Amino acid sequence: MNRRTLLKLLSAPVVTGFPLGAAEPRPNRVVISGAGIIGASIAYHLAQRGAQVTILEKQRPGSGATRNSFAWLNAAKQPQPYYELNLMGILGWHRLSTEIGAELQIQWGGSVHWVPPGAGVASLRKRVDQFEQWGYPISVVNQDEVARLLPGVSPGSFGSASFTSLEGTVDPMHALIVLLHKAQQFGVKVEYPCEVTGLEMADDRVRRIQTTRGPMEADVVVLASGVDTPRLAQMAGITVPLRESSGLLAHTTPQARILDRVALAPGADIKQNLDGRIVTGVDFGPSGSTDTSHESGQKLLKNAERYIEKLSGIPLESVTLGYRVLPQDGFPIVGFPERRPNLYIAALHSGMTMGPIIGQLAAMEILDGAAVDPLSPYRLSRFSKRTPA
Ligand SMILES: Cc1cc2nc3c(=O)[nH]c(=O)nc-3n(C[C@H](O)[C@H](O)[C@H](O)COP(=O)(O)OP(=O)(O)OC[C@H]3O[C@@H](n4cnc5c(N)ncnc54)[C@H](O)[C@@H]3O)c2cc1C
Repeated sequence: MNRRTLLKLLSAPVVTGFPLGAAEPRPNRVVISGAGIIGASIAYHLAQRGAQVTILEKQRPGSGATRNSFAWLNAAKQPQPYYELNLMGILGWHRLSTEIGAELQIQWGGSVHWVPPGAGVASLRKRVDQFEQWGYPISVVNQDEVARLLPGVSPGSFGSASFTSLEGTVDPMHALIVLLHKAQQFGVKVEYPCEVTGLEMADDRVRRIQTTRGPMEADVVVLASGVDTPRLAQMAGITVPLRESSGLLAHTTPQARILDRVALAPGADIKQNLDGRIVTGVDFGPSGSTDTSHESGQKLLKNAERYIEKLSGIPLESVTLGYRVLPQDGFPIVGFPERRPNLYIAALHSGMTMGPIIGQLAAMEILDGAAVDPLSPYRLSRFSKRTPA
């Protein structure tokens, strides 16, 4: 990582908004709708700074995208500000492991991505060049290095590969439960099942939250409700544009250690959680399939078996179907929408990677009345400011 990027990322996020005026009291009571990784992280960071926080969850913590996530912590994304936000997410997991300790069980070790001979080789190298220039610890590796990094993996017909040492993965439910538990130690209340059913508005502000456990009041309401965020935001007259994107993953029963890092093979993403379960899916685009049958899971396992012989005959434990929280243009939607001074929205994909930094920055924006620079490209207002083509 070059010095400039490192200094930028390690310095406090730049604040471009105005701190709360003397007349405006600092918000203290915050109600968060949704106990996925984003709601949990925002709650943790708010409560760490002394706010009184309640999370309302309509089912159980992690019932949405979080439970069904591959949870690879990665940052090699475009454009540069988005790459940097993801990188801050990875650094945020390092910070959280210092604050919370080893019980978070983050698996560092990086990821190895390889492609067969052909057009993919040049684009892999171009990609590596680009991210190296931005200071990301990524490099092209040869087949011998792949064999050293991923013993037990046969890459098949080999064109080229990259290794990114900084990346890692978590078991998303484990990380969520640990984070929620720590948030509770800071005083956060987690209520479930408790569904937010209405937002009563007055003068552009949320005055009351209707829930299945009765009405509640708060200084600030946070919508971290995953794919349900648009429906809830609409209750406050706000449109949050998401698109549908499903993803299937096959999970095996616990196995002896096979993989120490994330393996991104042609057409198969494969990792092994610390509990020994292998998790695999086809790629990071929308799978289109919603078939959670045993046969569909076996197909995913067979696909991964092309690269890892040891997967042959391993029992499939479950197949999960998740819906990504995917804004229309692929980038996060975070912040107070215009003219909604006490309604904060956080809807994003790659929320496992960015969870820690989104929580930290959201806490600054909510408690300090600040507008932080790293979030400035991700305001909802960008959708209304587009000129028609
Ligand atoms: C297949 C798949 C693979 C993925 N892989 C990766 C990856 O490798 N790396 C990565 O960084 N990210 C990945 N993601 C994305 C990541 O998992 C999500 O961005 C993240 O989990 C979103 O968390 P969230 O808290 O915003 O939403 P969710 O986890 O969906 O949480 C929202 C919560 O709100 C609750 N809720 C909804 N409506 C209400 C209501 N009215 N009242 C109360 N509660 C309500 C829901 O029950 C849910 O628990 C993946 C996602 C999927 C689906």
